[in-house]
Amino acid sequence: MNRVVSATPGELVAHGEKAVSAVLPGGFLKQSFIDWPGHIAAVLYTTGCNMRCVYCHNPGLVRPELIRPYGAAECRRIADWLVGNRNLLDGVVVSGGEPTLQRRLPGFLQWLRSCGFRVKLDTNGTNPQLLEELLHEHMVDAVSMDLKAPLELQAHREVCGRGITSAMVDRISRSLELLQAWDGEVEIRSTLFRPFHDHRAIREMYRSVTGTWTIQSYSPRVTLESMEAAPCEKEDILDMLGAGDDKAVGIRFR
Ligand code: SF4
Repeated sequence: MNRVVSATPGELVAHGEKAVSAVLPGGFLKQSFIDWPGHIAAVLYTTGCNMRCVYCHNPGLVRPELIRPYGAAECRRIADWLVGNRNLLDGVVVSGGEPTLQRRLPGFLQWLRSCGFRVKLDTNGTNPQLLEELLHEHMVDAVSMDLKAPLELQAHREVCGRGITSAMVDRISRSLELLQAWDGEVEIRSTLFRPFHDHRAIREMYRSVTGTWTIQSYSPRVTLESMEAAPCEKEDILDMLGAGDDKAVGIRFR
C-alpha cells in the first residue's frame, strides 16, 4: 500500500506540490464534464509535445517559445484544490501536450491514487513502454489515445509534422495494440478534416481500430499552423465506410 494513503490533508498537499511540479503543468481545469464522459473530472495539462499536429489547439503547451510551466505557488494551489475537493470529483484527467514525455509521470499518478482519485490519461501513443508500465501497474483507469492518420510515415508527417519518424509510427502502432488488448476503459479518437482525411485514409484508420472509434469534428478556431481545412461530415464518413448507421460500424461522433 502506498505510504501516503493515511496521510493528513496537509501532508497530501505538501507531497502533491512536488508531484504536480514534477510533470511541468501548463494548464489546469478545476472541473470538466466533457473530458471524461460520465465523470466530473479535474484536468491537468502537461507542457511539451513531440508532435506538431497542424490542427493542435494548444500551441501554448507545444511551442517551446510559448511554454510557461506553472511555478511552485500554482502547483501548490492545484494540489491544495485537488486534495480539498477529492470527495466532489470522480477523477482526474492527465492531458497535454504529451504527458508520457514527463519522466516523473508515474510518481504524479501515484500521488493522485494516494488521494483516492480515478485517473484517465490522454496520449498520442508515442511512448508504449511507459504506457505498458502504467497499465501493468494499474496506475490508470482509462486511456484516450489519438489516432491521427493511417499508420504510415508520410501520412503522419502530413498531419503531425516533419519531425515524425518511422520509429514513432511503430510506437504508435504498439500503443494501439496494447490498448486494444487491455480490459480497461479505452477510447481511440481521431480528428478528421478535409482534404487530408480522404476516402483511403478514413478506411485505413477504421481498419486499424477494433472496438469503438470516436471521431471528433475538426474546429478551425486556434491551430498550430495556418491551414485550409474543413471538417469531414458525418454522412460523408459513413458513406465512405459503406454504412448508413454509426452504431452499425462502431463509430461514435462527438
Ligand atoms: S494535438 Fe498534436 S501537437 Fe497538439 S498536444 Fe496533441 S499530440 Fe501534441
